[in-house]
Amino acid sequence: MNPESLTASAAINFGLAFIVLSLFSILKKQPSNASIFYARRLSKRQQVHFEQSFTLSRFLPSVAWIPRAFRVTEDEILDFGGLDALIVIRLFKFGIYFFGFCSLIGLVVLLPINFGDQDEQSIIYHSMDPFTISNISAGSNRLWVHFTCLWLISFYGLYLLYKEYDEISVKRVQLLRNLRHRPDQFNVLVRQVPFCNEHNAYGCSVDHFFSKYHPNSYCSYQMIHDGKNIEDLMHQAKSVARKIEGLRGRFTVKKCDKESLLLDVSQEDDVKIALFEEKLQEIVHKIRQLQNESMMKGKELPVAFVTFKSRHGAALVSQTQQHSHPLIWITEMAPEPRDVSWRSLEIPFRILPLCKIGAIVAASLLTIFFAVPVTAVQGIAKLEKLKKWFPPAMAMELM
Ligand SMILES: [Zn+2]
Repeated sequence: MNPESLTASAAINFGLAFIVLSLFSILKKQPSNASIFYARRLSKRQQVHFEQSFTLSRFLPSVAWIPRAFRVTEDEILDFGGLDALIVIRLFKFGIYFFGFCSLIGLVVLLPINFGDQDEQSIIYHSMDPFTISNISAGSNRLWVHFTCLWLISFYGLYLLYKEYDEISVKRVQLLRNLRHRPDQFNVLVRQVPFCNEHNAYGCSVDHFFSKYHPNSYCSYQMIHDGKNIEDLMHQAKSVARKIEGLRGRFTVKKCDKESLLLDVSQEDDVKIALFEEKLQEIVHKIRQLQNESMMKGKELPVAFVTFKSRHGAALVSQTQQHSHPLIWITEMAPEPRDVSWRSLEIPFRILPLCKIGAIVAASLLTIFFAVPVTAVQGIAKLEKLKKWFPPAMAMELM
């Protein structure tokens, strides 16, 4: 390796870092990107201030955000970003500490050790080789220094990992303690509920089963219903309501503009609005009908959310097998309310493994088809080496 290539490599890396940081700084200042950079503040309905006018400073990168970013404490990150965000930040910090230590050892200890053993050839050719381990002759005592440094770096890495694990587990417990009353921690999702022939329903068999086998911790249950019809009707109702709103909006604008000229047109709108309102009433009535108890009973799915009095009770039920037949009364911890995918609850349990296999196959195909072009490009970059190890690669040159 010569000094020129080292400088070029460093320049490319610094240049890329500079471009990315500048882009971040500029894009962050644009009001149109607020939903990307300030999603959480916007979702909490907090105000975000932007420069509205087209000034030059809006399109120039600034560095003011860097010291501000360093002042944010871990508790603040935990508060507004959650545990996942904190762990990503800590991962970066871990990288900085670890590679900083490696660089320090390399510069302070290894470089002088390697350089001390230099031969005259490399001085003539202005090569960087005197700084590398290749400068140390076989059997030299200086190799022990390399060996010791490797040990030191490994132990430092392990110590950092241990510290990281320790601190993150404390934060996790802290967070769990703060989020005491989350519904998903007291609920269990039960699939493959057997049908009660006596009462012609799934619901009562859930009640019988859990009040018999978990009498102390069981609290209540909620059956899941097939709501496809209701969902369709809700969509229809929403679109009709939107149409009515649109017509009303047009109506008032016209009224303000020219009253006499557009009177007959407004009358037409009036009739339309009345028609739509009638339709909306009809849909609402249909939804009410579908929602009444006897209709809902017919649409029960063999899936239920079962609520327990304590987190311990819920955890116990979710992690044990409930029946000697392994394909009924299948329990798992309920997902967080915002993560519930109602559509996937409708999928029969026998098909679920197929869906999982499908997802794995799709992910594998994506990885493979992504890897093929990347490998090809890498191969072209190292064609010389490839020809040496894999002679058929010579055919690439003929193409
Ligand atoms: Zn029953």
